[in-house]
Amino acid sequence: MNRAWHRRTAAALACILAAGGGAGWLAHARLQQLQAAFETDARIVHRLLSQRAVQHDAILSTLALLQPAAPEQGSADAALPRLPSVYPQILDVLRRPADGAWPAAAPGLDTAEAASRASGHAALAQPDLAAGRYHLVLASTPASYALHIDLHASVPRDEWPMDRATSPVRVTLEHAGQTFTIQSGHIPAHGWTYGFRKTLAAPSQPLDVVALRTVGWSELPWLAMLAWCAFTAAATVAAQALWRQRVARRRAEELLRLGQVARLNTLGELAVGMAHELNQPLTALLSGTQAAQRLLGDDPPDLETVRTAMARAVEQARRASDVVGRLRRLVERPDLAGQAQPLQLPAAVHDALHLLEPECRARAVAPEVHAEPHLPAVLAEPVALQQIVHNLVVNALQALEQVPAAERRLELHLTAPTPGQVQLTVRDHGPGIPPEARERLFEPFFTTRAGGLGLGLPLCESLAQAMGASLQLAPGHGRGAAFVLRLPAATSKP
Ligand code: ADP
Repeated sequence: MNRAWHRRTAAALACILAAGGGAGWLAHARLQQLQAAFETDARIVHRLLSQRAVQHDAILSTLALLQPAAPEQGSADAALPRLPSVYPQILDVLRRPADGAWPAAAPGLDTAEAASRASGHAALAQPDLAAGRYHLVLASTPASYALHIDLHASVPRDEWPMDRATSPVRVTLEHAGQTFTIQSGHIPAHGWTYGFRKTLAAPSQPLDVVALRTVGWSELPWLAMLAWCAFTAAATVAAQALWRQRVARRRAEELLRLGQVARLNTLGELAVGMAHELNQPLTALLSGTQAAQRLLGDDPPDLETVRTAMARAVEQARRASDVVGRLRRLVERPDLAGQAQPLQLPAAVHDALHLLEPECRARAVAPEVHAEPHLPAVLAEPVALQQIVHNLVVNALQALEQVPAAERRLELHLTAPTPGQVQLTVRDHGPGIPPEARERLFEPFFTTRAGGLGLGLPLCESLAQAMGASLQLAPGHGRGAAFVLRLPAATSKP
């Protein structure tokens, strides 16, 4: 009972572990997949925006390079008004002539021009990211140029890797505490957050591309996880059912085997077989000799027919003798001592009790096994040993049926009383054995049970003796009955 409980608990634990582990793995795999997709998108966004920023640098450099040596002469300045129509993100192109000033209403252009002159590349002039605009200034001679850029139009829509309206990813450009939101995304309050931050690959426009993604609980693969848990539970239940079926089948096979051994050894069965086999030749013998007797009484006697009848009688007598010889060979005790082998008595007892588990449960008996530690192995023939333990326990269970369920106790003590011996005591708390029966227990056909054959104990005793062991009834004291099986220890074998 206890073992079954342990087995069920272990199965439940294994099921919970497998279900939890599998579901966790599925969730982990989904999170990894989402994170990889996020990082790929963020890298594409960074590349696209960097390409735009580099494009701004290139436009400014081209303007500076192609500007006319003297004002109002060249082709570059003539192209200025057309630039916004080619590049929609360019709102305006400003020019500061060599001796002039920047047009008004664009603060910070002078400072940015000085920075540009110092660094050798374009510089930002007081960006207003909240409005999504900034000026990019390139100092040059004779004139310097500035682009007024609109970030809203800088985002390449056709190449953008996400749907800006529905994507859960938040993308912003950040610079000096200012933020321009490209797409706001959907950021749940709880979940797993992934981030990306990288400055644009254009030193003139050091804006940070920041992407943020929070995977909410609702995005986990719940259906697959639930399906896995259901599958694990079903597999555990099926495995348990299979296991129970296997144990029941093994038990049935073992019982059948023991039953066959017992039947083979049952003198009663042999007697029935012998009677059946002898009946026919003896009847023929009797009728043959009676006929001969009658013929000899005739005058004159028909000696020829008498001779034939007697010859038949001799033949039948031989047949009967053959039958007896065959049966005698069958009942001869096998030399079990020759087949004895080292065995662990606790394991043999455990096996026998396992076979009888249903019988014990049906009678509400929980066998108590007390084994001394470090018991030596015993020398025994495995089937005979199992047969003896089986019979003793069955007898004890039958005896226990006669007392109330609450008082039923069955103890099995495994001890080593002397170094060369190992002893098994099967003690029950049944009604015990009356003194007049104690003397006759091991006599064949002695039984007090209706339907009993009285062959169990004699068989056990003869099996025990055949393998160099002994079986005895323990002196009566206390409640119930106790049988003691003493086996030679394997180490004591010469
Ligand atoms: P059977 O079980 O067929 O009667 P056994 O040889 O096994 O044959 O037992 C002979 C008798 O010994 C039983 O009928 C019973 O009276 C008695 N006996 C055996 N074991 C016990 C026991 N544990 N408690 C009481 N009586 C027992």
